[in-house]
Amino acid sequence: MEKEISGVNLEIISGDIASQEEVQCVVNAANAQLLSGGGVAGAIHRGAGPDLARECRPLAPISPGQAVITGGHNLPNEYVIHCLGPIYGVDNPSEELLADCYRNALQLAEQKGITSIAFPSISTGVFGYPMADASETAFRTILEEIPNLRSVRKIRFVLFGSDAAEVHEHTLASLHP
Ligand code: ADP
Repeated sequence: MEKEISGVNLEIISGDIASQEEVQCVVNAANAQLLSGGGVAGAIHRGAGPDLARECRPLAPISPGQAVITGGHNLPNEYVIHCLGPIYGVDNPSEELLADCYRNALQLAEQKGITSIAFPSISTGVFGYPMADASETAFRTILEEIPNLRSVRKIRFVLFGSDAAEVHEHTLASLHP
């Protein structure tokens, strides 16, 4: 699914966040220590190679809602923005902290003049955020931010599996018919 909103191309696909060739920046669903792990962080660190962990070390720890930027190393992307999502029901208010992730990631991208960025569904894996709720917060925040974007012209959501992609398509269609 693809939508053009105020000159920004918003796209939803299913795939692997660590193999997005055509975007300048990918977002990591990071942990506080900015280490490799399971899920998105594992895929991104495996793709980037050990130099990513070295670059991350002095930037850690980060707090829920925060975002930091590094190079992409061996990934096909110039940059990685690492966001720490809230652990659902533990890091409160979870909704605001999740919105902060998307807002802070987009603001960092703007500061670097990034034109295209791909997000995973932050917090919906081991952090336990229900995906329908998370997708609503993600798209609400992005739709709010779109009028402020100058350099970012493409925002892609990369979801693991067609069910996750369908949830996101449904949410976006209801927020922006
Ligand atoms: P968090 O700790 O923020 O919950 P996870 O990495 O555990 O992050 O999961 C976030 C979401 O990303 C989940 O919906 C999970 O299914 C999905 N996911 C896991 N691996 C990948 C991948 N390689 N590419 C895209 N999405 C992924």
